[in-house]
This record gives sequence, C-alpha cells and structure tokens, in this order.
Amino acid sequence: MGDITGFLKYDRKTASRRPVELRKKDYREVYNDMTEQELFLQGARCMDCGIPFCHEGCPLGNLIPEWNDFVYKGKWDQAFDRLHATNNFPDFTGRLCPAPCEGSCVLGINSDPVAIKQIELSIVEHGVDESGKFEPFISPIKTGKKVAVVGSGPSGLAAAQQLVRAGHLVDVYERQQKPGGLLRYGIPEFKMEKRILDRRLDQLEKEGVNFICNTSVSGSSNSGTVQNESGLKAISVSQLKANYDAVILAVGSTIGRDLNIEGRQYKGIHLAMEYLKDSNLFCEGSKNHTEITAKDKNVVIIGGGDTGADCLGTAIRQGAKSIIQLEIMPEPPLERSADNPWPTWPLILRTSSAHEEGGERLFSVTATEFLSRDGKNVSGMSIGP
Ligand code: SF4
Repeated sequence: MGDITGFLKYDRKTASRRPVELRKKDYREVYNDMTEQELFLQGARCMDCGIPFCHEGCPLGNLIPEWNDFVYKGKWDQAFDRLHATNNFPDFTGRLCPAPCEGSCVLGINSDPVAIKQIELSIVEHGVDESGKFEPFISPIKTGKKVAVVGSGPSGLAAAQQLVRAGHLVDVYERQQKPGGLLRYGIPEFKMEKRILDRRLDQLEKEGVNFICNTSVSGSSNSGTVQNESGLKAISVSQLKANYDAVILAVGSTIGRDLNIEGRQYKGIHLAMEYLKDSNLFCEGSKNHTEITAKDKNVVIIGGGDTGADCLGTAIRQGAKSIIQLEIMPEPPLERSADNPWPTWPLILRTSSAHEEGGERLFSVTATEFLSRDGKNVSGMSIGP
C-alpha cells in the first residue's frame, strides 16, 4: 500500500480547471495537469483495503490499489502495465468516466476518496510523454485468422486492439468518414481533444488494425453498392461472415430518445447527438457540418445529465444569448442522504465544468409543449412539474 497513514496526512486533491473566462473562448481541454509530487501524495492516500470496493465500483474491474501504490513509489512503468491489464484506453476513461470507483472508495465514507481518476489519467500520460510505454505493440504471433469488427467506438477499438495483439488480422468497419464513433462525434473537444483519440488510432494502425470508413454494415442483401451521393458503401453481415473467420458487432445507437410532445415538428429543435456531432465536425474543420449553432440564441437544454452538460458547454462556446437546462428530477443534496449510503453511487448535486461556465439549471420540471410564433420555427416552450 501507499503511505500507511497517508489518508490522515494528505487531503484529496484533483486537477484544477483553467479560468472560466479563458476556456470559454476556446475548445481546448478544461483541466490542468497535476505535478508528480501531487500525484505521489494522492497515491499515498490509498489504504489498499482488504476488500477494495473500488474494484466493484469500476465497471472495468481496474486494479486500482496496485497502481496507486506504484505511483506512490514512482514506479510509473509498472503502474502503466497494471492499468492496461484491465483497461485498453485509460486515456479516454481518465478524461470521460464519471468515476464510480471514487464513489465506492472506502475514503468516500468521509467524502474525500482517493483521486483515482486523476491518477489513472496521469499514468497513461506519463507513458506517452516520459517512458515510451505508449509505443505500438507489434504481436510476434501471426494466426492468419481474419476478424471484422463493426463499429469504431470505444468497444470496437478495444476489441480490435485485443485481437490484433493476439496475432489476428483485423478490419474495423465504420460508417462515418473517420473512426472513433462517440469519441469523435459525441464528446466535445473541451472534454477530450481529438488529438487524444487520433494518437490511439495511430497506435492501433501501427499495430496492424485496418480501418474501413464510409462503409455501412447492414442485414440487408442490398450491399456492395454505392448507397448515396456521399459515397457511403454498404456491406451485409452475411458478406462479412463469408469473408472473415469471425465478426464482432460493436455498434452503438444513433437513435436518440425523442420527446414527442406538441410542437415537436417546429424548426430549431435538435437531438443532442445531431448538435454535438455538428459542433465536432466544425471543430475538426470538416465541410460537412450543417451549422446548427446556438450563437445569439436563447437556448433550452432538456435533460440535466452529462450529455446536457456537453450541450451546455458547447452552446456557451458558440455564443448563446441565454441557456436554461431542465432537469426532471428534484435538485439533489450537496452531500449523501441517509438512504444513499456509501458504497452506493452518491446521488449529490454535481457541478461540471460547463455548469461553472454559465447557464441556469431548473429542477423538477419537464417540457410539456413547444411553441411557435410563426407556425414554423420554435420560439418558446411550456414546462410543467
Ligand atoms: S475512473 Fe477509471 S478506475 Fe474509476 S471507474 Fe472509471 S475507468 Fe474505473
């Protein structure tokens, strides 16, 4: 374990955020780096519990106390290896995961869990900047087996990397112009800059993964033809099965949950994924974005979760005149209530970086009707409890 009384001596510390007025002017990541000394002290706080509840909290079963200890001892290379034993992409999770591990950390009883997510991120970034551990791994084994992976989001990429490192030939099929799925078209730059995704894709390509983009995989027999004027090709699952030893379906869903209330047909109402994708295309300089913009508009975001916060941060950067975010649930308390004890996920009020930057949150409300002055464009809405 780290320092046997570290948790008594050192307070929890996480990365600071860039000043609000500065970061609102750009799409760069919000968080600053922590120093090695700060990270050692955070690693020192881990108690290496007999039953590490953080293992249960982490959906990946990350071996958290082991790499906390390595970081405390300055053994970054060992920390990198133990972290990658369960997690292909800590550079993504260290930025994007809501960190249920911290909710279940035993120190979370006192609301000061070990800064697990920050340590995780620092381990992988150390491997990129300092030790060369991030270099591609070229498998010495060649099985001659061919595998098709459908979808290049996080699960497709993880599957592809495991397979190519096991010595198989791997083709990843992606419908969009570039690989990455939600990581590229859903996550805003200010949460994870695309260079982080691109350097992983570069690593995968060097390891032998072949990306086939602009190609839609479907169950239809109408395949192998150009589908539309944008040049999207189609291939069927049965064709893949005929040409590969195995096929992995690692697709996400692009079908959002709609809100079919009165007035939904008015122009100016968008699903989050249409909006975020368009902003991401704009940020990467693509000509294919359709300019859904919040500039000079009064914006209402329906939904108070992470995706809503992503829309909020994006609308602020686009120059919205005003923003209101609606949350159907009541405002949660600042600390755990008696019926929400450790180690369950803490149902507390969270203020993301986007909330810090602007907008107003309304709780216990839901949209009941969209309104329009001209019968075409949305101009307001009714809300109710
Ligand atoms: S932050 Fe990392 S260790 Fe914690 S739950 Fe997420 S993936 Fe697991």
